[in-house]
Amino acid sequence: MVKKDMACKTCGYVSDDPIEVCPACNNKKFTTFWQGYVIIMDVEKSQVTKILGITIPGKFALRIG
Ligand SMILES: [Zn+2]
Repeated sequence: MVKKDMACKTCGYVSDDPIEVCPACNNKKFTTFWQGYVIIMDVEKSQVTKILGITIPGKFALRIG
């Protein structure tokens, strides 16, 4: 089993490296309890970003907690 990355509790942003503040929503709460993820390459063209309120490209967890 691979090391579980941290996901932002608010927007689901997943970071490969330990971070203190979420670059997507500036929240400081993270969790390792999340399932599935989407990789957002183009924020403008993605429908998912509008639903999740994502403003930057990256990896986002689909289900938190
Ligand atoms: Zn966030």
